[in-house]
Amino acid sequence: MSAEPAERQSTAPVPTSAVVNTVTGTVPVTELGTTLVHEHVFFGMDGVHLDARRAVDEADTCARAVDQLRRAAALGLRTMVDATPIEMYRRPLLLRRVAEAAGVQIVCATGLYTASHGVPGYFRHMATEQLRDHFAGEITDGIGHTGIRAGVLKVATSPGGIVPVEEKILTAAAGAQLATGVPIVTHTSGSSGVEQLEVLLRAGVDPGRVVVGHLDHRRTPIATFLRILRLGAYVGLDRVGRDVFLPDSFRAGLVAAMVREGFESRICLSMDSAVSYVGEDNSLVDGAAPAYTEVLDGFRSTLAQFGVGGDVVDRILTDNPRRLFTPTGAE
Ligand SMILES: [Zn+2]
Repeated sequence: MSAEPAERQSTAPVPTSAVVNTVTGTVPVTELGTTLVHEHVFFGMDGVHLDARRAVDEADTCARAVDQLRRAAALGLRTMVDATPIEMYRRPLLLRRVAEAAGVQIVCATGLYTASHGVPGYFRHMATEQLRDHFAGEITDGIGHTGIRAGVLKVATSPGGIVPVEEKILTAAAGAQLATGVPIVTHTSGSSGVEQLEVLLRAGVDPGRVVVGHLDHRRTPIATFLRILRLGAYVGLDRVGRDVFLPDSFRAGLVAAMVREGFESRICLSMDSAVSYVGEDNSLVDGAAPAYTEVLDGFRSTLAQFGVGGDVVDRILTDNPRRLFTPTGAE
């Protein structure tokens, strides 16, 4: 009896390119499951590690992250993207410890933050190609000697608009995206989302590999969301539970409107939470951010009130991240 043609086998292997780097190793993109695309365990202003008076209690932060993640896992969470840029207290080895203890896959990032709050001189003065190669190296070879490979690119721009060093970093990240296939998540402070995307598109990035993030930081007009969606990118409503920026009812209304417009497949939900956060005034603000469970629990109920059913939410949290992380050409 002749073998079944490969294309007709129901258990066709996932293409080798369609794997995701997590801090505990690579997993097939089909194994991501329910995913939060923009969170943090640690987040600290660039340079805080140089101030001994502000020492972050890393063991305590890890323990609290594990506790939150276990509760999120009980609600179905399988993967969390830690979108912390290089200079903002990124700690890949601690993320690995948290992932192992919680039984949740964590994807860590490479890339840099805003010029106003980050981008140390060492990186600021690199040429675009050097930055591109650094980011790509952290994805393909690993972060230093940790043995951990970054699985996502993080870029950010200042609230007042994109400044030259940020445009250089965006272009470098685009080059690293094209070289490695991993997606890009952005930080916008609610502004410059279209402009960020235009820089990435000019550099040749497939918009289907980009989440324009923090569009729910302020009352961004629905027209801006639709413009980004029509360019083919994902929109990040990734500050769920942050009523200090925008009420969740407003977010839920936006999600419902975009679903009605036919863009369910391009919405990403997350909280931009952090267990340990050292803020702009250098104060340690712990416990102020929503728990990792918020999207899976409270916000799901809010969405239901706006007519967005549980089946839609499940697809947004599972199918959209899987598609985002599937390299162009491997869909
Ligand atoms: Zn963030």
